[in-house]
Amino acid sequence: MRARRAKISPNDSQERFESLGVNVLRGEARFVSPREVEVNGQKLSAKNFVIATGSRAVIPKIEGIDDVPYFTNETVFDELHQKPESMIVLGGGPIGCELAQTFRRLGVQLTIVQRGDQLLPREDRDVAEFLERRLINEGVRVIKNSDAHSVATSDAGKIALQLLDRQSGRLAERTFFADALLVATGRTPHIWSLDLKSAKLDVSERGLCVNDYLQTSQPYIYAVGDVIGPFLFTHMADAQARVVVRNILVPFQFLRQKMDYSVVPWCTYVDPEVAHVGLGEKEAKKKNVDYDLFVTSLEDVDRAVVESEDAGFAKVLTAKGSDKILGATIVAPHAGDLLHEFVMAMKANVGLGKISSMIHVYPTFAELARKAGDKYNKSRLTPRAKKTFSWLYERARK
Ligand SMILES: Cc1cc2nc3c(=O)[nH]c(=O)nc-3n(C[C@H](O)[C@H](O)[C@H](O)COP(=O)(O)OP(=O)(O)OC[C@H]3O[C@@H](n4cnc5c(N)ncnc54)[C@H](O)[C@@H]3O)c2cc1C
Repeated sequence: MRARRAKISPNDSQERFESLGVNVLRGEARFVSPREVEVNGQKLSAKNFVIATGSRAVIPKIEGIDDVPYFTNETVFDELHQKPESMIVLGGGPIGCELAQTFRRLGVQLTIVQRGDQLLPREDRDVAEFLERRLINEGVRVIKNSDAHSVATSDAGKIALQLLDRQSGRLAERTFFADALLVATGRTPHIWSLDLKSAKLDVSERGLCVNDYLQTSQPYIYAVGDVIGPFLFTHMADAQARVVVRNILVPFQFLRQKMDYSVVPWCTYVDPEVAHVGLGEKEAKKKNVDYDLFVTSLEDVDRAVVESEDAGFAKVLTAKGSDKILGATIVAPHAGDLLHEFVMAMKANVGLGKISSMIHVYPTFAELARKAGDKYNKSRLTPRAKKTFSWLYERARK
């Protein structure tokens, strides 16, 4: 893992940025006035600023947490040097699920503790249940509706975790023991070190406040990435950075570009991958959006069958009575790659019917999208049209 990471790390290295003419200072920056930051005792002023300080792992307030060793995503990749026999992962979101499956596959006895009643809370329930079944089949123990109440180190040197059952409100009778604890209970914007008060910047509980142009309450101070949200992804930080570059370059506000969050894809790198764009059923119901649903199983895709990768599906939501795509979720190998046909279709306003008429290479996983399109076309076949086609067919046979 470290060797592979080292291969891509030059893309973000200090050397690369310096070769592009960027001055890189290593240190913690903080505002000392609305026009000045201080790093390592050195004061810097500029015409424009971009805050991109990201987010940190949230450490929940669990009794005893400060007295036991635990990992977060920031430490687990570098500080875990030996395979633990067993591990408890607190949190069943994307990071918790990805790391839980990884460690289970490396032979670690794995328990995920999730607060709510489904893993990957942002996804539709059927998608989360599919993943949960997959993890359980691989030997992961999944405990839902439970809060971590307290942790301690047992006499045998293990992590001892006491859970609170959220439904009954009672402490679980059993104590869970493991060699390692991984905390993956969410992220919080990294703002406290910046002394934002000195710059007079507005902050909410979700992070640094920005307008549609990604300007903070001081228009010459922009912010991008996890520190502003609302989507904590590398590709979102990248998209926001592109808007900010343009907005800093153009001289007038009316030429500045608004950040567009209308089509935001993401992917969770469990196996099979879970990729999503736009509306899911859960969100559509919450927003009272009427939709039609087209579900295609990977079992209907020949390439998936011959590669024995036929566990998975695609679900596509269209506006009721039309082929306008509202959202898509794919659960499949390389779902994050396959999703882009739908991302492109949504962005370019291409309907699901059009996807059906596009020639897809056989045999590929991409046929999943075409088959969803075929399902849409079949749904348009009214009894009358069906009768007419049957008549035409009979006539052609004579
Ligand atoms: C385990 C894990 C897996 C992930 N996987 C994916 C994925 O597969 N795909 C995806 O799209 N996203 C993924 N993400 C999310 C992605 O990492 C973030 O959305 C992305 O890194 C945000 O970029 P950023 O530039 O806003 O912040 P960051 O990448 O967090 O960078 C912020 C930097 O600012 C520095 N900093 C903070 N405060 C100061 C200060 N005062 N002075 C100077 N420097 C400071 C920090 O040390 C840090 O280096 C993952 C996140 C985690 C935790």
